[in-house]
Amino acid sequence: MLIVQKFGGTSVAGADRIRNVARRVVETHEAGNDVVVVVSAMGATTDSLIRLASDVSENSHPREMDMLLTAGERISMALTAMAIQDLGVGAMSLTGSQAGILTTPDHGEAQITEIKPGRVKEGLAEGKVVIVAGFQGVDPESKDVTTLGRGGSDATAVALAAALKADSCEIYTDVDGVFTADPRVYPDARKLEEVSFEEMLELASAGARVLMARSVEFGRRYGIPIHVRSSFHSGEGTWVKEKTMEQAIIRGVAHDASEAKVTVHGVPDQPGVAAALFEPLATAGVNVDMIVQNVSEEGRTDISFTVPRADLTEAKSVSAEVADKLQANGVDVDENIARVTLVGAGMKSESGIAARMFRILSDHGINIEMISTSPIRISCVVRGDQISEAVSRLHEGFLPLSPPTEEA
Ligand code: ASP
Ligand code: MG
Repeated sequence: MLIVQKFGGTSVAGADRIRNVARRVVETHEAGNDVVVVVSAMGATTDSLIRLASDVSENSHPREMDMLLTAGERISMALTAMAIQDLGVGAMSLTGSQAGILTTPDHGEAQITEIKPGRVKEGLAEGKVVIVAGFQGVDPESKDVTTLGRGGSDATAVALAAALKADSCEIYTDVDGVFTADPRVYPDARKLEEVSFEEMLELASAGARVLMARSVEFGRRYGIPIHVRSSFHSGEGTWVKEKTMEQAIIRGVAHDASEAKVTVHGVPDQPGVAAALFEPLATAGVNVDMIVQNVSEEGRTDISFTVPRADLTEAKSVSAEVADKLQANGVDVDENIARVTLVGAGMKSESGIAARMFRILSDHGINIEMISTSPIRISCVVRGDQISEAVSRLHEGFLPLSPPTEEA
């Protein structure tokens, strides 16, 4: 079997942990498998490098930023290769570029376009474990290195697994798997045995950070089952795959407190106004999530939307410019918001889920400010300081302990 194993930042945070990773990799190799390992930067290395860069310069330097950040994963890959060699198994580390990971030119958020894993295959043919630096690739035009966005090592692992036609892709992390809610917010959350690609995609987009959303897309597109599991013990984690044994109405409750809300007040209620606002936002690279439009007075409407806090400054200045042009009443920013989301594929064939969700929130005095849905998801924006309450009460309502129908 060919297995891709990815180890996240906490799993390689320090010499002992790297030696522990090496032992796991060697075990898998000794069991007769070909192993490709993908590593993240050690611990909080990426965060420290980002901070260091902002101490050195206040300006944006996309190309140099990627040069800097890719160094984090290079440190891990070399140390991991050394530790594996010390256990008597051949090992070779490769940067993303050396591993043939080709990307778009977008520094900081490049997308993998193609993988030419020639050197990876050579290494495997020589009986070696091949260690690939996560989160990075190269733009084949400019030959510049690129990064794939935060959490991008997950995408490296699943995309490599697809390119190599691996039998499975294991994502080793510091938690036991995917949970029904964030256990730091709701301690009674349970580990899921399995979750479908479409549900995991919704959970990851709704704030579950255990897997990067794009890696789930790769898994789904190429049919690569992903096993999310702990690097600290050998127990089973969560399988992310096409079909689950059991279809849950609600699989989990995700939340995201990383967004802010922008409202443009009193724009003319005419064709073309939304386009006039969202076109320049898109051009500025602002990632708009939820949008709500409400008529405020005769002929005027308020448009509210959410954006990642990192895009807020840009979103505010673009919106202010547009508001000016449209002679709107002004722009308002609200940073104290959070989004709670219910996800479950069984929602498709069950009515009344949204109504139940709204009732539970209202019973606990939680006001809903925005709503958005997909066939298998319902999201509500609420006050930021009520988010733990919202997650807990919805979990109790939809995923009670020992649910009578779920425990067969
Ligand atoms: N080191 C990068 C990050 O912190 C990539 C990763 O860990 O997946 O985002
Ligand atoms: Mg990660």
